[in-house]
Amino acid sequence: MSDEVFAQQKFNCPSCGAEATWDPAKQSLVCGYCGTIAPMQPPDSPTTGIEHDLVAALGAIGDDQRGWDTTRASVKCQSCQAITVFEPTRAAQRCDFCGSAAIIPVEEQMRPIRPESLLEFKLAETDVREAIRAWYGARWFAPNKLGTRALTDTVHGIYIPYWTFDSQVSADWSAMSGDYYYEDESYIDSNGNRQTRSERKIRWYPSSGHLDHFFDDEHVPATRGVEIELLNKIEPFPTTTDLKPYDPGFLSGWTVEQYQIDLIAAAQHARQTMETKTQQLCSQQVPGDTHRDLEVNADFSQQTFKHVLVPVWLLAYTYGSQSYQVVVNGYTGAIAGRYPKSWIKIVLLVLAILSVVATLLLLAGSLRSKPDTQPDQTPSRILDLNFTH
Ligand SMILES: [Zn+2]
Ligand SMILES: [Zn+2]
Repeated sequence: MSDEVFAQQKFNCPSCGAEATWDPAKQSLVCGYCGTIAPMQPPDSPTTGIEHDLVAALGAIGDDQRGWDTTRASVKCQSCQAITVFEPTRAAQRCDFCGSAAIIPVEEQMRPIRPESLLEFKLAETDVREAIRAWYGARWFAPNKLGTRALTDTVHGIYIPYWTFDSQVSADWSAMSGDYYYEDESYIDSNGNRQTRSERKIRWYPSSGHLDHFFDDEHVPATRGVEIELLNKIEPFPTTTDLKPYDPGFLSGWTVEQYQIDLIAAAQHARQTMETKTQQLCSQQVPGDTHRDLEVNADFSQQTFKHVLVPVWLLAYTYGSQSYQVVVNGYTGAIAGRYPKSWIKIVLLVLAILSVVATLLLLAGSLRSKPDTQPDQTPSRILDLNFTH
């Protein structure tokens, strides 16, 4: 394919249908509209790899499965790139995720894929405030001011988008299994005497087997607004057991973050997790007391994915020039966050530690100088070791 032909071709975003352009830095097609990052599909090559299957599947999702099934307004944050979807009666002034005022309206003409299902909010705002206050209270290094701020700061309840991947795996494995046995061995001890002791040995033999397993709901977050590291800390969201079918009623009065997908990353992430788990499951099947050289040949089939929403309470605040997030799982109440550290408290702690060390040194010195100390060597030897290094 010549460059000329390439330049003339238009590529559509598999997620929303808007025009996507080639991004040399990301080596993929990036949708300027919804931010989806997708691998380029060479027009004449058969689909290869999970991400291409996904591109095809996303593109095939019809108009009846798009949109929110209710009127919503959307804004995109120019700072953190999150797209926030809310009721048109509410006027958004700032980004819910980072507090930036640089938000621009997003038109609804490109319609996102409607979620199949969601987890509803279970935690009320009052419980969340209480939880955040207690959480601050347990952060020793947080400036005292923060604890009182938790009462006045705005907390937002937001549905966060996730992709979940299902797949059947069929794997053949082979390994070297090892059984332990013990043999007496003689050796010369420090006094020059011959002694015997029991030595553990391993008898190796080849083994092989087969694993069939269904992966249900491997999660990949599709949020731009919430820090992934924090989100991981408040997981799991019980999507395998508690999901409710999507109904616009659940969204009434609530804000939603619209997904933006890095398809390559999402698909690869899900596949990696499944491969690691397949390896572990096979490893559990290997007979013997131990094993080595495990080789797994896995075949993934019936791969499907879903778009789901999960509830998160979010407190975004700035302290000094930095912005911080505290996130609460709106279903289970798990909490995680970042907070500024008070230098005064850290200095005080360092001083306290130094004074304890100084006291110990003095104590050790006075013990050693006591003339009538019994020749019990052990404690002072430990102290000597500590202080000579
Ligand atoms: Zn798009
Ligand atoms: Zn933002």
